[in-house]
Amino acid sequence: MLRAVARINLSAVERNCALLAAAASPAALCAVVKADGYGHGAAACARAALAGGASVLAVATADEAASLRAAGIGSRLLVMGALSGEELEIALRAESEVVTWREDFVAEIAAAAAAVGWSASCEPVAVHVKLDSGMGRLGTRHPQVATAVAEAVAAHPALRLVGAMTHLATADDDPQFMRAQLGLFAPWANALRARHQGLVVHAANSAATLRGPESHFDMVRCGIAIYGLDPFHNDPTDWQLEPALSLHSYLAEVKLCEPGQSAGYGRRFVAQAPTAVATLPIGYGDGVRRGLTNNGEVLVGGERYPIVGTVSMDNITVALGPTEHDSPARGAEATLIGEQGRQRILAEAVAARLDTINYEVACGISARVPREYHRDGERVVA
Ligand SMILES: *Cc1c(COP(=O)(O)O)cnc(C)c1O
Repeated sequence: MLRAVARINLSAVERNCALLAAAASPAALCAVVKADGYGHGAAACARAALAGGASVLAVATADEAASLRAAGIGSRLLVMGALSGEELEIALRAESEVVTWREDFVAEIAAAAAAVGWSASCEPVAVHVKLDSGMGRLGTRHPQVATAVAEAVAAHPALRLVGAMTHLATADDDPQFMRAQLGLFAPWANALRARHQGLVVHAANSAATLRGPESHFDMVRCGIAIYGLDPFHNDPTDWQLEPALSLHSYLAEVKLCEPGQSAGYGRRFVAQAPTAVATLPIGYGDGVRRGLTNNGEVLVGGERYPIVGTVSMDNITVALGPTEHDSPARGAEATLIGEQGRQRILAEAVAARLDTINYEVACGISARVPREYHRDGERVVA
């Protein structure tokens, strides 16, 4: 028994990817494993995603690309985020594909390629060009600038133009704005592809991939859904997605709170009647957010019990019922996200309590929590 552990079902990641690859087909599936695979472990999930039918991986940062390479992953790998000169060299050493939307950055990519030892006998650096069709973050808003940047990439001997991309701001909640973005993006990308054979056009995130084919183009970039989390914030099983991650702790202590006695900092739980209270050695230091104070549940022995009192850094307290005798015993396993018997706690439900999204709940599980991997219950070393 570990004080806190996240268990990740790699078979679920694999099946989620197979489902998304089928939904996207004939478009290719790019699996997004940034932020340590949304808290699930990047390298293990990357391998599962590739086994499930992804043909490209994407991350946000150069260091994330370098760690996937260090873990022995040899697939195509795209760094989607902005890169400083220093980071660009790290990305290129990791043989990543990179994104640009500025002509001055095209020159920087070429300079970084030279700095890391690129010569005419090497493969050119694969570059994607990004149009900002409405997200308002990275990319250029001007199709003619994006085209000029693309032509500059295509003309450079050290570079190869491989992709034309955009990012959708509202695929999960405003299909009308999504269609407006696609209406700006598609003519630009299709015209560029007509001039550059084999150019991979891509726009869709998980929500857009599931919504339908109009956003699929040549490749989709799925993150949240490969982990079995619902991009629409409800229930992943509505889409036949399987949550891959569960989060566990155990009852390290169980004792009775008599009326007037309290549990936790600030005495935010004071027993009105005799209450058996369990202490679970997991807290906000592990990513169990303090907003779950008097506002959360855990599963023990297949039943739901409320979190009572303040979530602290290393412990939470849970009310088990009026007596110690009919309640779960010290040592019992507790599930904070996941299933026990017929009960389940979805990351989406935890997110709703915290007024956030499943993405933040999964990414928030801290590095202090060991990740254990399994395939449908069978422990594996990842
Ligand atoms: C994170 C990210 C994705 C994946 O989004 P999901 O909603 O997790 O599927 C796709 N594209 C870009 C540019 C991203 O940053």
